[in-house]
Amino acid sequence: MRSFRKELWFQTGQRREYVNITHQVEECLRESGIAEGLCLVNPMHITASVFINDDEHGLHGDFERWLETLAPEKPHSQYAHNGYEDNADAHLKRQIMGREVVVAVTNGKLDLGTWEQIFYGEFDGKRRKRVLVKIIGE
Ligand code: ZN
Repeated sequence: MRSFRKELWFQTGQRREYVNITHQVEECLRESGIAEGLCLVNPMHITASVFINDDEHGLHGDFERWLETLAPEKPHSQYAHNGYEDNADAHLKRQIMGREVVVAVTNGKLDLGTWEQIFYGEFDGKRRKRVLVKIIGE
């Protein structure tokens, strides 16, 4: 069995942002040379998500409004976690949107459904953060 590991770095311009990272993960897969196996992608941070969904602008706006309903950023004072930090809402949003994705690797390609795209979901951005890509197989 072969194993490949790479860290991707992101710095979003906004506090909350969705970045389509499908091509970067495909690039990792090419680099790995693995044809059959599994590809794990996860942020190495507790205020960001990696998830799979549609690359559709309206849907991303819906995510933003839905998450702001469930865990509004402000007022910061509503959260016990805030004080030294102001990112309690980001921890909660990440929890809902999930930590990681695992994608099957088949014939050297990510075995995604027609509309499936991999996203980095940032909820406390404007700083450099890492995403881990781990691919195992042969
Ligand atoms: Zn925090």
